Formats: sequence, structure tokens, C-alpha cells
Amino acid sequence: NPPPIDLKQYIREIPDFPKPGILFYDISSLLKHPDGWQLATARMTSVVCQWNPTLIAGIESRGFLTAAPLATRLGCGMLMLRKPGKLPGKTISHSYNLEYGSDSLHIQHDAITPNQRIVVVDDLLATGGTLQAAVTLLKKAGADVVGCAVMVELMALNGRKALETEVVSLLQYD
Ligand code: 5GP
Repeated sequence: NPPPIDLKQYIREIPDFPKPGILFYDISSLLKHPDGWQLATARMTSVVCQWNPTLIAGIESRGFLTAAPLATRLGCGMLMLRKPGKLPGKTISHSYNLEYGSDSLHIQHDAITPNQRIVVVDDLLATGGTLQAAVTLLKKAGADVVGCAVMVELMALNGRKALETEVVSLLQYD
């Protein structure tokens, strides 16, 4: 058997983006690779299936790319957690603080129905502020959030400590 492919080789590390001093992990190169995203999604599926989810919630917008193929493979529905002004009809929202300023996530008022087991998905976990905001919003709407999943986890920022649910990650960086 050949050794398993290390997906880190397909992720570019870009210094000083979006601000000086920040090292940005660019998943564009993993998406663009012919096998990269498929392999990443397959590996993510095998860890997330332990939770028996029925609905995968993706955070706009790289979280959509992560969530949609996972939902398809698991035979789950998918829910979009969107930025302000994107969803028609009545919505439920939650605002959260960023390093500079604030942002909010929104779902449609009828997005949550009884007996859903929801896994929240994003491309990357840094401080955990974004994922926890998503979990808070879903719980506010009455949802049962069974776990979170990301492709990349920045371990030094200890984001999983900020989360009230379990989280799994595919690739860890110090
Ligand atoms: P947190 O809220 O955990 O501090 O930051 C995570 C959010 O910011 C995620 O939605 C993620 O898409 C974005 N993010 C922060 N840093 C990076 C990075 O280095 N690479 C990518 N792809 N996204 C990042």
C-alpha cells in the first residue's frame, strides 16, 4: 500500500494576509487540485459520520464549500449560515465580535425542525469565535448541535476551548 497522501502539501501558507503579521492558510490550492478536495471530503466524512448527523450547517462562504460535499456523501440536508442581507423572508440572527468590529450570522426562521442532529462546518478554526457564534445561533433557534468539523485547525489559538461542542479537524498546524 502506498503511504496516505499528506493534504498539507496542497495548502499554501501566505504571509501578511489579510494584514501584516498574519499567516493565512489558503485552501484555494487544495480545492484546485484534482484529488485534493475529494480526498479531504472523504476523510472528513469518515470522522463526522460517528455523530449520525441529519443536517450539515455550513458557514458562508468557505464553509459552504466544505459542508456541501459532506452533506451529499452523508445523505444529509444542508443549511446555510449566512452573512447579513442574503436570506429572503424572516430570519434569526446572532451577532459576534471580531478582532476589529463585529459580524452576524443568519438563518431562515423555519430552518430548524424537531429531531435534527446538526453538525456545523467551516474551512478553518482559528480563535473559535465564528464557529461558536454559529453554534449559539443554532441553539437559539432550538437546534441540537452534535458537533463541529473543520478542514484546518490552528492549534496555538486554542479555538476548541472556546467551543461548547466537540470539534474534529483534518489538518492541524502549531
Ligand atoms: P475564528 O473565528 O475561529 O477566529 O476564525 C475562523 C474564521 O475565519 C473562519 O470562517 C475562516 O474561514 C476564517 N479564517 C481565519 N483565518 C484563516 C486562514 O488562515 N485561512 C482561511 N482559509 N480562513 C481563515
